[in-house]
Amino acid sequence: MEPVSKPVLTHLLLEELYEASKVAKPTARGTALRYSSAGSCERQISYMGLGAKQNTPMDRSGAWATGLGTIVHEALQGAISRVYPRAEFEVSSQNGNISGSCDALVPGEDLNPEWAGTWVLYELKTMGTYSFDKQVGWNRMRGTVGMGEGPALKAITQAGMNALGIESERKIRIENVIMGSITFEALSKNKARNMDINEYNRQMAEFHVPREVWEPLALAEIKRFGSVADALERNIIGDVIALGDDGEKIMLNPESGKYWQCDYCAYRLTCMEDGPGILSVSDSVMEKQ
Ligand code: SF4
Repeated sequence: MEPVSKPVLTHLLLEELYEASKVAKPTARGTALRYSSAGSCERQISYMGLGAKQNTPMDRSGAWATGLGTIVHEALQGAISRVYPRAEFEVSSQNGNISGSCDALVPGEDLNPEWAGTWVLYELKTMGTYSFDKQVGWNRMRGTVGMGEGPALKAITQAGMNALGIESERKIRIENVIMGSITFEALSKNKARNMDINEYNRQMAEFHVPREVWEPLALAEIKRFGSVADALERNIIGDVIALGDDGEKIMLNPESGKYWQCDYCAYRLTCMEDGPGILSVSDSVMEKQ
């Protein structure tokens, strides 16, 4: 039996999520820039900071992945609150003209007596199997486990930037950032047995990231965002430079089809017309929203 080309019921949640994805999300504190752009291309950060019109909107698959992620986030926050009633959610902070919020902020002693007197910032990411397997070092086809890469540096950086902002605003100390990763396809029972993967880790992973890892990443990114913001004050739009998987600077090219950052960028058409290199706002084809 073939699937019908025009569903009448099954697509309705997708349609709701797709419509919701068309509404631009404001930054947590109304700032021009957001922590969640950590690792992003300087050109994209500039367009966002200028309020440029998005001319390559998210497609339904993107809205599905993002929307399901939001549903899981809200459900997990509910579950955390029932076990840790002192946990706070969507705690926002501001660092100059960047802002954002974390998924949860929990008193350290509630989670581990060794963390007493400090707070733990929690950040959850939902993801497909490709990204998840890279983090935990799995090859599902072969049924092997190698050294995983751990959470994406850009995600740790985003969490760290918020941690620094919250620390300075609330005069508290955050030592550990906990990164949660959830994927939607569990490892099969058979493979889990052969790969010695426990019941939790068949579909999720949790990483406890100490301060010596997240703080330098966050400080470096706050500096990079600062340079982009300074350039924007002079009406200069940044170059097509992003951070790669290892935190190295990489030059993107939206025409090449090689970079996932560009595949998912809402400003791709504007960027292609503007061409590479830094440019002044008046030389850009960008339209304001
Ligand atoms: S299309 Fe690529 S290079 Fe251009 S702004 Fe977007 S991410 Fe940056």
